[in-house]
Amino acid sequence: MSERIVTMLSAEQIAARVRELGAEIAKEYKDRNLVLVVVLKGSFIFASDLCRAIEGNVRIDFLGVRSYGEGTETSGVVQITQDLSRPIAGEDVIIVEDIVDTGLTIAHLMDLFRTRGPRSVKVCSLLHKPARARVGVNVDFLGFTIEDKFVVGYGLDFAERYRNLPFIGIVERT
Ligand code: 5GP
Repeated sequence: MSERIVTMLSAEQIAARVRELGAEIAKEYKDRNLVLVVVLKGSFIFASDLCRAIEGNVRIDFLGVRSYGEGTETSGVVQITQDLSRPIAGEDVIIVEDIVDTGLTIAHLMDLFRTRGPRSVKVCSLLHKPARARVGVNVDFLGFTIEDKFVVGYGLDFAERYRNLPFIGIVERT
């Protein structure tokens, strides 16, 4: 059995939307101390494009999270594998996610971050699959709403493969 990837969002569509998100964020956070928290590994490509689309002062930090094994189903358990390098007390934080699926990861991170005394915490996600929501999560800055399909590319993996694809697609078994 082999696999092929069917394009869902092209590199051009993604780039155009990321530029819009960057402009939206820059406008809202003008003259504030913005910290982008990049949730590893899936959002590393999105975050690297997004941060360059935001004009103004931005600090970038990374958070390692494990919620999936090698499969495609969430375990509901969120483990921090790498914490932030600096405190976020008094800062305006945006958590940058690749995709909000069941919402469990982001709900857990919001709870965790609120205990650290930031001035504000918002969420920016490239993708959202509302059909799979298990907890209510507010995505403040959203790239695209997608249907309930397992997607790869632009940082998103399937068993650690396909992160390097410049577009987002669906894995099809042929
Ligand atoms: P949640 O906790 O919202 O269910 O899941 C969030 C995480 O699950 C995402 O950050 C991502 O790593 C992974 N995930 C959810 N849906 C997909 C998908 O369609 N494709 C890939 N590659 N990862 C997904």
